[in-house]
Amino acid sequence: MIYLDHNATTPLDRRVLETMLPYLENEWGNPSSPYRFASRAKIAIEKARNQIAECAGCGPGEIIFTSSGTESDNLAVRGTAHALRSRGNHIVTTAIEHHAVLNTCKALETEGFRVTYLPVNSSGVVSIKELENRLAPETILVTVMHANNETGVLQPVKEIADLTKKRGIPFHTDAVQTAGKIPYPLCELGADLISFSGHKLYGPKGTAALYIHEKTPLSPILTGGLQENGLRAGTENVAGIMGLAHAFSLSAESAEREYKRLEELRDRFEERICTLIPGTKINGTGAPRIPNTTNISFDSVDGESIVLGLDLHGICVSTGSACSTGEPEPSHVLVAMGLSPKEAQGSIRISLGRDTGEAEMDTALEALSDTIKRLRSISSV
Ligand code: PLP
Repeated sequence: MIYLDHNATTPLDRRVLETMLPYLENEWGNPSSPYRFASRAKIAIEKARNQIAECAGCGPGEIIFTSSGTESDNLAVRGTAHALRSRGNHIVTTAIEHHAVLNTCKALETEGFRVTYLPVNSSGVVSIKELENRLAPETILVTVMHANNETGVLQPVKEIADLTKKRGIPFHTDAVQTAGKIPYPLCELGADLISFSGHKLYGPKGTAALYIHEKTPLSPILTGGLQENGLRAGTENVAGIMGLAHAFSLSAESAEREYKRLEELRDRFEERICTLIPGTKINGTGAPRIPNTTNISFDSVDGESIVLGLDLHGICVSTGSACSTGEPEPSHVLVAMGLSPKEAQGSIRISLGRDTGEAEMDTALEALSDTIKRLRSISSV
């Protein structure tokens, strides 16, 4: 198998698994229990919190553990909206967010919040000017993702943070696709809330974190115990948290080296694919992108058929977000970038990872070329 879908999920790093095992086998105490056996689990969690804070560039008290990137996004968006309801009811986001943010905003609309969905240009980037024009006295939250999961396109998050800071509006960014891939601490972006997820950086699934700048008002979305500073009730996933922290550290150590390596591999692949396969377009090229992602449209073929065709060669890629597989609708991200529904439906996402090298990319290129030729010869699209 050649796995080229690292934006959907990554394999668990063996070193991370080894860190987790003692907390599944021996150190299984409840961190909230009063005796010494359980306090070892509590101490371990605090060590993990310190480790993540160091990688992210913040204080340990600003990291909250959650169960997924989806939960971190929900807590950030819903939690801010509910905490600041008396101040206003307006939220600004973009048309290209992950459904974890988009559907949370849609749910908030049914509670009486007003949401502005900013458009993006043909490269997939929001305009700061447009964002500034849409801010209103009743705006209580801006939420704009760092890198898009389908195209890898990066948003001008630092500039947005500067703007929202001046206006006193909390700013959330979903950094699920940049954590571990960008060679600098993500809190340098200046956002007040930042979502991370473990399984995108070779950590365990069902583990995640939310950075909350110390003065950001937030209401919990789960009711229950007082874990995580009262912001996230529920007994902590101790083994998962230990794995998450180790995965964070390992990614931070290799981020700079991997950034350059993957960028070279990706760029070489894109250059060759455009020469080899006519009627090919790379989406998002005019903008800065994370180096592991390429989103490609092919004329006269259906993306779903390409994915299935490559699967026959043992190659795993996707049509976009893993969560939308099986959806007949074209990608909301590509449509927002101005692609026609037909063009959007003829697109695939290839996302590289630690285990990807030249040999894998060469084999994928050959298989892709064969698949497209075969599909076009029988195509009615
Ligand atoms: N946000 C982005 C940008 C993502 O790519 C994903 C997952 O694909 C999520 C949020 C959701 O993360 P999780 O799968 O941990 O719930």
